Amino acid sequence: MMEFEAVIGLEVHAQLKTKTKIFCGCSTEFGAPPNTHTCPVCLGMPGVLPVLNRQVVAYTLRTALATGCRINPTSRFARKNYFYPDLPKGYQISQYELPIAQAGAIEIEVDGETRRIGINRIHMEEDAGKLIHDPQSSQSRVDFNRTGVPLMEIVTEPDLRSPAEAGAYLRVLRDTVRYIGVCDGNMEEGSFRCDANVSIRPLTQTELGTRTEVKNLNSFKHVEKALAYEIQRQQEVLLDGDEVVQETRLWDPDRGQTTSMRGKEEAHDYRYFPDPDLLPLVIDHQWIEKVKRELPELPRARRRRFEEQYHLPPYDAGVLTAERAVADYFEACIEWCDNPKLVSNWVMGDLLGLLNEQHQTIEDSPVSNEHLGRLLAMVEKDLISGKIAKQVFAEMARSGQGPEKIVESWGLAQVSDAQALEKIVDEVLAANPKEVAAYQGGKPKLIGFFVGQVMRATRGKANPKVVNELLLKKLAP
Ligand SMILES: [Zn+2]
Repeated sequence: MMEFEAVIGLEVHAQLKTKTKIFCGCSTEFGAPPNTHTCPVCLGMPGVLPVLNRQVVAYTLRTALATGCRINPTSRFARKNYFYPDLPKGYQISQYELPIAQAGAIEIEVDGETRRIGINRIHMEEDAGKLIHDPQSSQSRVDFNRTGVPLMEIVTEPDLRSPAEAGAYLRVLRDTVRYIGVCDGNMEEGSFRCDANVSIRPLTQTELGTRTEVKNLNSFKHVEKALAYEIQRQQEVLLDGDEVVQETRLWDPDRGQTTSMRGKEEAHDYRYFPDPDLLPLVIDHQWIEKVKRELPELPRARRRRFEEQYHLPPYDAGVLTAERAVADYFEACIEWCDNPKLVSNWVMGDLLGLLNEQHQTIEDSPVSNEHLGRLLAMVEKDLISGKIAKQVFAEMARSGQGPEKIVESWGLAQVSDAQALEKIVDEVLAANPKEVAAYQGGKPKLIGFFVGQVMRATRGKANPKVVNELLLKKLAP
């Protein structure tokens, strides 16, 4: 049987986190009542002039540098002409021949293997409006709040070879744009959208097969499932002796299949031409240098640093650096408690567990990084036991109070004073003569029983290390 290889390229539309639209001052806020964030510019009235939002360029530059792209010193905006009811101007302002950035790459890891996925280009463009179809009245309405919302289109080279690689690429890209603070990466609200181009070819063939474009992929899982389906479908077509038709197909998540949507357009169908309302965009060297200097540490580099600097296992480093806010929280805790593995266990376990339970993000964590750091410093100094720290943590989450205050008001401080503990140890030994005899007769495991009794007598506040030492001394023949 003939063996095939899949060739996949992805186009991601990422909505930039600016306060206002790309060519006018209207708000980009999500979820406002329809048509309340509009003006003559984004409604496409005749005679109005677009003015480029500087922040859109700054955010795109940041993304381009984070993905190793070359910045074109001059780029141009172009009109992409087509008619659709959600596009009042009859054209979308995008970039075509001269995009702002080209020739970058992202590294992904799949099954322990690192692969470099080329980025062909990044360009800026405006979003279209949103059509709302009401089946009851059989009317369609249009909401122009989204027209002119700034998008960045990030296009890969056809370097991906499997659905798993496509998923890995999207995760790295999403982590990256979130890390550098240019896009919230929210796929449900449509601020991170993906179209996939996929073709297959016999393993022995070098030229590309006919590709189809799959749309409507609004989660990583859907991307992987849709690609797997499409690869299988194309294989069956070819094995039947038919030809794959170049077209746009729509993923139907409920039926788990793609269906033909329309014949694929070619670039010339859009009659692209430079937008006469906008000057060429010239980016000087100083601006690029400034953005470079301000670029934060990226997730992969930070993960590696966490492993080296804090001697954390790769798993811990991966979890802690997946989100920038979590990594920042961890590093702020370390300022207070210099035991990275202890802090890591608490942040990954207790803290993320609590946030998950309460459906909160780390930004609005009820326990501040300083409070958790100070709590763990008390554990580290043997002032309280790990078990009591859990109770204090729960109280910090409830009341927002600092750990020292809770420990003091509850009288929870660990008893490490040997003299105070000696009295209790003596009492425990006097109350259990049978066990003392058994221990001395050759049952050393009974030490655990005595420790337990002392802990009970002190309601868990005794320092187990001191108790152990005292017991060993007293029980020695
Ligand atoms: Zn507007």
